[in-house]
Amino acid sequence: MALAVLVALTISSFLIMRDFVVDERALDDTMSAIEELRVELASQQITMRDLVTEVRRSEPDEVRLRGLRRNLRASRERLVVDRAMLERAMRNSNVAATTWKILREPPYSLDKIIADMSSDVRVALEDTMLHEDEEIAIIADPREDGFLVITDSHATAARLAAERLLGELRAETDTRKIWREDIHTWLGWATVLVLFGEAFVIFWPLLGNLGREVRRADAAQSELSRLARHDPLTGLLNRASLIDEIDHALAVADPQGDRLAVMLIDLDRFKPINDMFGHAAGDGVLIEVARRLEAALRPDDVVARLGGDEFVVILPRAGTADEIREIGLRINRSLGRIMEIEGHRFALGASIGCAMWPNDARDVDGLLSAADLAMYHAKRSDLDDPVFFDEELRSAVAQVRSEEADLRRAIAENELVLHYQPIVSLDGKALHGFEALVRWNHPSRGLIEPDLFLPTARRVGLMSQITTWVLDRACRQYADWSAQGHDPHFLSVNVAGSFLTQPDAVGRLLAIAARHRVDPSALVLEISERTIGEEERSPIARHLATAHAAGLRIAVDGFDLGRSSATRLRRPEIDILKIDRDFVRDLTTAPETAAIVGAMIELARILDKQVVIEGVETADQIALVGICERAWVQGFLYAAPLAPPDAARFMGHHEATRHPLRLRAAG
Ligand code: C2E
Ligand code: CA
Ligand code: CA
Repeated sequence: MALAVLVALTISSFLIMRDFVVDERALDDTMSAIEELRVELASQQITMRDLVTEVRRSEPDEVRLRGLRRNLRASRERLVVDRAMLERAMRNSNVAATTWKILREPPYSLDKIIADMSSDVRVALEDTMLHEDEEIAIIADPREDGFLVITDSHATAARLAAERLLGELRAETDTRKIWREDIHTWLGWATVLVLFGEAFVIFWPLLGNLGREVRRADAAQSELSRLARHDPLTGLLNRASLIDEIDHALAVADPQGDRLAVMLIDLDRFKPINDMFGHAAGDGVLIEVARRLEAALRPDDVVARLGGDEFVVILPRAGTADEIREIGLRINRSLGRIMEIEGHRFALGASIGCAMWPNDARDVDGLLSAADLAMYHAKRSDLDDPVFFDEELRSAVAQVRSEEADLRRAIAENELVLHYQPIVSLDGKALHGFEALVRWNHPSRGLIEPDLFLPTARRVGLMSQITTWVLDRACRQYADWSAQGHDPHFLSVNVAGSFLTQPDAVGRLLAIAARHRVDPSALVLEISERTIGEEERSPIARHLATAHAAGLRIAVDGFDLGRSSATRLRRPEIDILKIDRDFVRDLTTAPETAAIVGAMIELARILDKQVVIEGVETADQIALVGICERAWVQGFLYAAPLAPPDAARFMGHHEATRHPLRLRAAG
């Protein structure tokens, strides 16, 4: 009887491996036992399937079995034991010393075993050997042409070898348990069992740790399948399960009566948090957002994370538009409350787009893309209210999208140009530097002012790229002018906050200057008050300090006494305060403005900062401020922003007129 041979075979095999010596005689025994088995199986026409059928007769729990079988099939896709790995594992393990020899030599080569294994047998194996007990692991070849079956045993001698083997396999495989009481009894001592005929199975002895290993692998497996449905960071449903959820909700909804709403929620101001405060803070914020979203919803509502800072809420029983709007506002209010993460305080907002089933779309994709369009609109228009999809939105969004594409193209194809506005002494005679101001030389629309395209750039996240371009172009211009014998003194560049939130912002800045051999001291960075922020130890403040130490000068753009705190302005890295042209414009109409501007100039003097008064259009305005020799000025009264050739001419003219002045002063 075949089973007797099996037992004999397995016992002799065990003897071989116990001592870790290749006992040639025992090996011969094994080989002949195998051969006998093969002959016997062939003569009795016993196939692997017969064996398997016999083994499974007492199968207790079909349902459980079916579940496991399904798991196995699913996990098969991830099984990655390949032949090379199997060989390596065998070679590296002591067990392999004996086994390998058997397998290596023709006609029992591993190649042949793998090649001969029919899919029929695989199915039979799967059907039979799956069991919930965890004594035997099965590791399959992903190419579906071989199996390695690992069994449990008690031979301590093989433990190390087994562990090494497992270590080898664990990294790359998914193990699946199989177990049969009968097989276990036969193979309790098994080393190697090679069944010839229709099929080949290799049984490998593994000990002690195996059960635990398998359990661990299984725990990992169930964790994996949980992760497959949930976003690991927030624990919310992920995109795949969200789609299932919507599908499910649609399947049970009644198009006559029910209305289902899908809300797409995109956080505002999240990216800078991630960039400036690090990923731990970003993660903390996302977790808190997830928690607040859940808290803001009703029990039946579903919330999922689409990825990044995008979330989706499904309202299976959406009420009226007003009710939905109320939920959207509630979400926004809740995100707007201060959250303390990693010692920082953040308040967020969200742009919310909403699409309704069955009116706006009838399937998952349609709903999500309609909600996405609405969200895009909400984002581009800075609205707190959720935006509801409607057909008109499509064209409005298409408009913004085409502007965005146009702008990206403009940057790529170098349609941006810089004009340079002189910054001069109060009497207009001494040139101190130029502010570089960007324009868009549009092929069909002509020269476009920054106020017309920077807002789009800001909303679609292109400011950092534009700043990089401007810095590069300004440095190149500076180098060209220097080569032509001009001295622009300094070039002042408006630097967007999103550029400064990059971790290596200063490195990038210095690299650009170095590329054009421009000394950092020739550059002034104009930073808006908002960007500089309150926090003295914020990443931006650190960047500014580093930049300052490297020789760059820092100007506060739009200095406004009402908004600035003196402590902020006192920071040593700040060199220049630019008084906004709004104040200057009001000088002639609002009498108290003169006093305010005077106070700002006085404060700058106390703090030992250079003042630049912007937007000076008339001599009256200057007269109203009173005499302040130290102040520098910039405005149409002196010069508008100039195209590079005009700026060069300005420098030439300025240099020519300054000499007589100096001479007069000297004489
Ligand atoms: P800003 O930084 O306040 O730049 C000064 C603005 O005032 C410029 O407008 C300039 O043309 C304008 N201006 C100068 N003198 C006068 C005057 O006497 N009267 C009046 N009414 N206006 C005057 P522009 O070039 O249209 O730029 C507008 C804004 O766009 C800038 O305001 C700045 O915030 C932004 N911007 C311009 N270029 C860049 C750039 O390269 N990068 C960044 N990030 N922002 C830029
Ligand atoms: Ca500026
Ligand atoms: Ca300004």
